[in-house]
Amino acid sequence: MTAPAPELPLPDPESLSAEQQRGANCVWCAAPLSNAAARDLGPRLLTVFGSAVRWFPRCCNTCWKGHRP
Ligand SMILES: [Zn+2]
Repeated sequence: MTAPAPELPLPDPESLSAEQQRGANCVWCAAPLSNAAARDLGPRLLTVFGSAVRWFPRCCNTCWKGHRP
């Protein structure tokens, strides 16, 4: 088990593409992600149109190294 990064600051989901929102592309650089290369950033709760929804953002290894504390 790899623990997801707890609370890395992420871009505003409303500014992201549909692919980035569903975890197909990196949330930072928009690179397409394969399952092997993707880093799971952990589920986040968002409020969309007044409803709480879960977001499962993912990123590429390059951005993971750049954003990790
Ligand atoms: Zn990236």
